[in-house]
Amino acid sequence: MAMGREAMVPEKWQHLRPRTIEVLRGDDFYDPREDLYGAVAPPQEGLTGLIYTSIAYVSRTVREAAEVFAGVRSGYAYSRISSTPPIDALSRKLIEMEVGKDSTDRDEFGVLLTSSGMSAIFLVVLSLAEETGEFISSPYLYGGTHHLFCDRLPKRKMHCHMVGNPFSVSAWERAAASHPNASFLFAEDDANPTPFKLDNAVIAAVAHRYGMLYICDRTVGTPILEQPLRLGADVVIHSCSKNIGGRSQALGGAIIARREIIKTIHDKWFTVVGAVMDARVADYMLYGIRDLEERMGEKQRNARRVAEFLRDHPCVKKVYGPGGDLLAFETAGSFENAVRVVESYRLILLAPHLGHIRTLSIHPASTTHAQIAAEERSKLGISDTLIRISVGLEDPEDVIDDLDQALIYAFSA
Ligand code: PLP
Repeated sequence: MAMGREAMVPEKWQHLRPRTIEVLRGDDFYDPREDLYGAVAPPQEGLTGLIYTSIAYVSRTVREAAEVFAGVRSGYAYSRISSTPPIDALSRKLIEMEVGKDSTDRDEFGVLLTSSGMSAIFLVVLSLAEETGEFISSPYLYGGTHHLFCDRLPKRKMHCHMVGNPFSVSAWERAAASHPNASFLFAEDDANPTPFKLDNAVIAAVAHRYGMLYICDRTVGTPILEQPLRLGADVVIHSCSKNIGGRSQALGGAIIARREIIKTIHDKWFTVVGAVMDARVADYMLYGIRDLEERMGEKQRNARRVAEFLRDHPCVKKVYGPGGDLLAFETAGSFENAVRVVESYRLILLAPHLGHIRTLSIHPASTTHAQIAAEERSKLGISDTLIRISVGLEDPEDVIDDLDQALIYAFSA
């Protein structure tokens, strides 16, 4: 007997109209309620596990849906508002790394995963400084953050007061005393592009003495090298687009803090803006996290070796870092010499990014920090001859050979 297309329609749906049947056929007659009740189990486990890509989840009752929606019951609803299984898995992993696997207060922490590092910073700042309209920051910042703090937010009546010298406790103290209404202190503890290391414990202590929070952007060093929450920071932010993902295939950001702070950010701006991380991205980040420790160890060793070489090079005036895999150096000569160096690489890639498995380099004054006025830039140590390098997993001697030939070429007649 010939099987008609109708024969493939599950019996419970055979009474439906043709248009509905077409829609259900496009979904392979999948019924999430069957999965929910455990009736449909995968016949075998996949080699790479199951990725839940759904942005919405089915509830059994209205009460269950309402409680999940209100955040008083754990569960899934809609991925802009509540979590999804891959988001949960990545959040747990980040808490483990930041707070410690065996920490007794691990359950007191929460995570918000965002569409990018910038959206994480934006959501934190907007949510936590909204009442006072003021906060205090280290001036050594990624260009996008500097632009947000010094150009975009002041236009919305939110003011960032920069600390003159973020290495000095008394400078933080003075800033906090002069701006007692500020909501928080903010710092990149390994700054970008000059990876200056700031002391998280010291900044957190000043913040708390003045009744403020301390927010740390830990993107450059990653949680492998230091965990600011354990040193007193109240909020840690990561651009997961960098070393956490590690292979430059997706943008993402993370906000990690105690649950009360996470709830404030979630309820005020997170769900309204909707800049959330996609489930597929969370899955990709989970792959990156698996070898993050090994990668960071190797990249850090390579970066130290490259920095050593640069320190002795006659065409190099000054070397900053490394902080994690990041270092920066000032060439002798002019803007043109520095541009010629980065344009002469044969192995290193000229790319406005860091934390990749291959070595990347950039000339910040003409790219990542071009939005900052030249005078302000030079005060921040971002001179016209500064070159940033994010060292990868290659043999460091090959990176060194490439830098050597680029420097020699750039300074040859
Ligand atoms: N924070 C730091 C220290 C960065 O270097 C960057 C990007 O380079 C960001 C935040 C922004 O991250 P994203 O590009 O994921 O928005």
